[in-house]
Amino acid sequence: MGREVGWIAAVIAVIGLSCSNPMTARIGDPRLMRQAIVDQGSGCEAAKLVSTGGAFPKNPKTLAIRWTGYTNYEIAFNGQILLLDAHFDRGSMYPPLGFTAADVKRANVILLGHGHLDHMSDAASVGARTGAVVVGAPVTTDKLKTQAIDTRQIRTVTGRGGELLEFAGFNVEPILGRHGEPPKNVTEAFDNALKATTPAPTKEQIAERNKIRERGTNDPRVVSEGTIAFLITLDNGFRIMFRDSGGVITDYEKAAMQRIGRVDVALVAVSAAYLHTLTVQRALEHMRAYKPDVYIPGHHDAPFNGLWRSTEPLFQALKDENPHLVTVSRGYREPLCFDTENNIQRRQGADMR
Ligand SMILES: [Zn+2]
Repeated sequence: MGREVGWIAAVIAVIGLSCSNPMTARIGDPRLMRQAIVDQGSGCEAAKLVSTGGAFPKNPKTLAIRWTGYTNYEIAFNGQILLLDAHFDRGSMYPPLGFTAADVKRANVILLGHGHLDHMSDAASVGARTGAVVVGAPVTTDKLKTQAIDTRQIRTVTGRGGELLEFAGFNVEPILGRHGEPPKNVTEAFDNALKATTPAPTKEQIAERNKIRERGTNDPRVVSEGTIAFLITLDNGFRIMFRDSGGVITDYEKAAMQRIGRVDVALVAVSAAYLHTLTVQRALEHMRAYKPDVYIPGHHDAPFNGLWRSTEPLFQALKDENPHLVTVSRGYREPLCFDTENNIQRRQGADMR
């Protein structure tokens, strides 16, 4: 008991010392970084989506990104909420996200990277409740139109050029990407190993999953015509690339990036190929194409009986090639905030002067 009290006293003393010690603050001790965020009351501290009633960042120039499993992200900025993909009610086979689709009450725009169930299953219900504009490829919006949502909210894009979508404070350029095509021999071998080593889903769980599956599409066109990368550009030039499947970079993406140069943040799916040699190779291609300052992975979580796609080997390989790259992955709903005034376009403008 006495020893415990001694420990607690020592910890309190260290924390007290750290907070008042500017030298410690300067070295980026992660405990202090967290403390600093909370102290600022910046609107960047809570693991609660703005779309479910959480706070916007206090500063209108601050952008908050929250990951909510698979390639779902919420972007909150200057009174606007974008949802990237909409798959929230995943069922009992998955780790809970901490909210449900019914909790999502506010959104301006929903961008659907493709129409598989794990990317669009809650797009209709959330779109209908929030009145958000919902954007997707033809094969995605065809599916959406069979569900309970006003078709006037739906925008269909092909990503083949000339489709810039303007919103309050930002615009969105759809660019045709390509769905991941992991080698069958690899995925089958891993899937069989998982089946052999984990409990099988119950009848109820299979029925539950099938119901969710009905709200997505399995149309083969998803691979080549239905996977859209979205370039989001804020009015001050801050750029985000959202790519919700780990497929190869297309000529459309190459052409767009040749014109754009690079992005501030890339939100990119980790390839489903299991083996690091393969997932790393694809992540490198994505980094070389988008040239982000900050790389944030997606699609790396999994059902309880699945395997999470590991992000650390990717981070290491990306940084081996580009030591300036910032890689970051947070837990469900944890905010990651950016000062959007600090962006590549502005810095390049400053360089030219
Ligand atoms: Zn997919």
